[in-house]
Amino acid sequence: MKANDSFHIAVLPGDGIGPEVMAPAREVLARVEATTQNLRFRFTQAPAGAGHYRETGTALPEPTVRLCEETDAILLGACGLPHIRYPDGTEIAPQVELRFIFDLYAGVRPARLLPGVPSPIVGAAERGIDLVVIRESTEGLFASMGKGVVTHEEARETLVITRRTSERLFDFSFRLAARRKARGGRGMLHCVDKANIFRAFAFFRQLFDERAALHPEVTPQHIYIDACSAALVRRPWDFDVLVTENMFGDILSDLTAGLIGGMGMAPSADIGDKHAVFQPCHGTAPDIMGKGIANPTAMILSAAMMLDWLADRHDHPPAAEAAARIEQAVDRAFADGLRPTEFGGPDGTAAVAKAVLAALG
Ligand code: ATP
Repeated sequence: MKANDSFHIAVLPGDGIGPEVMAPAREVLARVEATTQNLRFRFTQAPAGAGHYRETGTALPEPTVRLCEETDAILLGACGLPHIRYPDGTEIAPQVELRFIFDLYAGVRPARLLPGVPSPIVGAAERGIDLVVIRESTEGLFASMGKGVVTHEEARETLVITRRTSERLFDFSFRLAARRKARGGRGMLHCVDKANIFRAFAFFRQLFDERAALHPEVTPQHIYIDACSAALVRRPWDFDVLVTENMFGDILSDLTAGLIGGMGMAPSADIGDKHAVFQPCHGTAPDIMGKGIANPTAMILSAAMMLDWLADRHDHPPAAEAAARIEQAVDRAFADGLRPTEFGGPDGTAAVAKAVLAALG
């Protein structure tokens, strides 16, 4: 149990719609703080992102990194803008840098179809979608970030899979599947790879099988990335937890966000052994920034994931209770007819926030 009931949270609103979705999430956290006993927050806001890079020449300033190091958790909106880039042409992505700095190897991306939310998948409303993609977030093809070699004739990027990270990633994934099983889940974990073609993925699968033996309460499964993509759009209800390499997870988690109504519905957490960043799956959505129509649901659900992680890490039941209350309030708001602009409804950012706050009571 935590020595005191106060959690210090670093808040990085970022660029584009980042600050627009962060504001409602902060309101929701303030409401649960005011209505939960023994739960207090201290927020410290800090700059990061493309706007800050344009102003100062630095995307992720040292004081921001230090703040993130000292706080209990990091809440991030979204960073990067397509027209502001590093001299080599790549986008500003401090959210990716944070994963490397704090060794946040497990990118947890739940996709749960909320009541009343339209899915493009026939039968989803009846059968339900409730799965989690775990994207390794520090190596894989992203290990090559900034190190690719391009000549006039060819370009090369190198994919890296290490035993150390993979073992921790698989242990984390098996524990998550077991935890979901204890809450009524199926207790199943798919390793998603391309082990039939690449030696690096055969190694990934071999490590998965080794760790599976240590977690007999969970059923291990194998599936190739291509077959998995088809299966996810045909029968997403057959999946529980999926674990995969960084690049595959980047793509699969956008696909699973599409299954549950769009990017604005998909929360995420990047988790390491000590630190964690909570942010929506989406980016800065420059096409809709400033219009008041960004869907803040993913950011609000990411804040709930933060509380759940803090509860677990500090053995602090009030934080777990607050996380469950936020999720239930979001469910209730959608069941009662909330329809964000994102999927053709009338509700902009403020209306979504208002409905969730009303459901929180
Ligand atoms: P990144 O590369 O950082 O993931 P991106 O530019 O590929 O970013 P997003 O910024 O996530 O992608 O936007 C993809 C699409 O989803 C855009 O059309 C955007 O408007 C929409 N979108 C993303 N987030 C939201 C949201 N919260 N509410 C409504 N629409 C959103």
